[in-house]
Amino acid sequence: MNVFIFTDLEGISGVTNIDFMDKDNPKYSLACQLLCKSINSAVSACIDAGADKIYYIDGHAGGGNICEEAIDKRALKCSLSEWQTLLENGGIDCQIELGSHARAGTIGGFLDHTVSSKSWFCHKINGIEMSELSLHALVCGAYGIPTVACIGDEAACEQAKEYIPDIYRGAVKKATCRNFAENYDNADNILTDTIKTALNNYKNVSIYKIDEPATVSLTFCRTDMCEKAYARCTDEVTRVDARTLCRTVDKITRYGDLKF
Ligand SMILES: [Zn+2]
Repeated sequence: MNVFIFTDLEGISGVTNIDFMDKDNPKYSLACQLLCKSINSAVSACIDAGADKIYYIDGHAGGGNICEEAIDKRALKCSLSEWQTLLENGGIDCQIELGSHARAGTIGGFLDHTVSSKSWFCHKINGIEMSELSLHALVCGAYGIPTVACIGDEAACEQAKEYIPDIYRGAVKKATCRNFAENYDNADNILTDTIKTALNNYKNVSIYKIDEPATVSLTFCRTDMCEKAYARCTDEVTRVDARTLCRTVDKITRYGDLKF
């Protein structure tokens, strides 16, 4: 059993307010340490559950949050393109979302957003609002790989069920408002227990798929953001309104197909 851990920072245990996201704030380095600690707990849980190979990606804000030396040597760091190659070559049996947060516009979601807090207002596929978890899960699903666990805040875990009803969920904290959360005392046990249970049952978890050809649309926060993105797009992208771009994807195979 080969496991891929897709990490993000917002849903990590101990990351309890928006200051942790600011690279100029001392709390940011603490957030990075907490991320490494959570990855190491996840790696140990994967080993306990019988994983042969464990891969992870530093998924927050394009990476640069993880000190590789601090990570358990039994796990291998990957880039987004290496993740894609592993998917294509059958190198992964299941995926875990670690540090997950709810999509943009979620009541009760800690630091709710989808891909970009600044510019993405709403991302939809076939009219269904997407989260980062669902976007990753769709790409995995294209290769028959289930996303088996979501570790993050309560809203992220609850929302994950909308896409994958039988996904295993481990909420490690709860938002008190968009920019603040309260951590759970037993967060580390929740993380490891959820991962072990998910991996012991990974073959039974639903694979997330969507009807194809798929209509992918992105509404930006502002018109100029849409203009800028549209200028980079190829001919198959249409501008639906001032702030929205749309394309049809015959078959979802790559993460890049779902972005603009
Ligand atoms: Zn993030």
